[in-house]
Amino acid sequence: MSTPLIELQHLTRRFQVKRNISITAVSDVSLRIDSGEIVCLVGESGCGKTTAGKMIAGLLKPSEGNIYFNGQDVTQLKKDDWEKYRLGVQMIHQDPYASLNPAHTIYDIVSAPLKRHGKTGSEIATRAAAIELLESVDLTPASDLLDKFPHQLSGGQRQRVSVARALTVNPKFIVADEAVSMVDVSIRISLLNTLLKLKEKNGLAVLFITHDLALAKYFAWEGRIGVMYLGKLVEVASARQLVESPQHPYTKVLLSAIPEADPERTRQKPRIELRSMDVPSLMRLPSGCAFHPRCPFYEGEMCEKVIPALTKFTDGSSVACHPVRQKRAADVVAE
Ligand code: SF4
Repeated sequence: MSTPLIELQHLTRRFQVKRNISITAVSDVSLRIDSGEIVCLVGESGCGKTTAGKMIAGLLKPSEGNIYFNGQDVTQLKKDDWEKYRLGVQMIHQDPYASLNPAHTIYDIVSAPLKRHGKTGSEIATRAAAIELLESVDLTPASDLLDKFPHQLSGGQRQRVSVARALTVNPKFIVADEAVSMVDVSIRISLLNTLLKLKEKNGLAVLFITHDLALAKYFAWEGRIGVMYLGKLVEVASARQLVESPQHPYTKVLLSAIPEADPERTRQKPRIELRSMDVPSLMRLPSGCAFHPRCPFYEGEMCEKVIPALTKFTDGSSVACHPVRQKRAADVVAE
């Protein structure tokens, strides 16, 4: 098996919320992501997907577990290699307005990392590189935008500037955290298409974090989707497998709630109802399977008492659910 670009092994992150009380935002997450691969992390807000993304981007330290970048444990990297890792993994944040300095022009924003990392020489070359980067994210004519300030751009344009800035250091891996959720619905798909084009052109791997399974389905159709619930991965599969044959009850619920383009089909689509609408607090996680108080397929004591392990199956998918494991016992991959 080849070395993955990023590998998470038993990644866990706790936060102290009060004296003597901590929550586990990410719990025992293991995942491999190859070069050029797209993986979407999907789940409700508070499920740990952003915390996982920040740990991968080197912005938060894990409480336990390891992150490997090209086979190297990132916690053991010396200063120069750590710097290479931080440049190799870039994060695009949800709010482009908050992540761009309002007092700087677009040229200042894009040229600063180019200059800092010696990517260009003269001012003329830097300006040309900035124009090329803006054009690569479909901001045209780029020369008209260079001297503008972020507030003079639309939300979609600002997010494209964030993407251009991330590309200045030739990353191998992009963590896009709800990267299109704050832009107008009408331009979300166009922005996703720009990201897909850049992924192809630059051979990037992308971790796309979203609460919207419909967006994940569109973006990761050639990749994989990981579904998170209360800090844990509960299902990972190719996007096609996950959409056409979801295994985990939570994935089934999420898919049944996606509206269809045709309102009549949406009305007729059978919805899988949760047993409870209340999302448990991370401070008081339910025993056993954390989804059991809401799970429409709950099967009694086993669900209530035993935490289901994320089990790998021969078709490449992984699912954390007792009944699924029992029904598919013949397909379990021995660890
Ligand atoms: Fe539902 Fe039980 Fe599966 Fe948990 S383990 S998702 S409660 S069926």
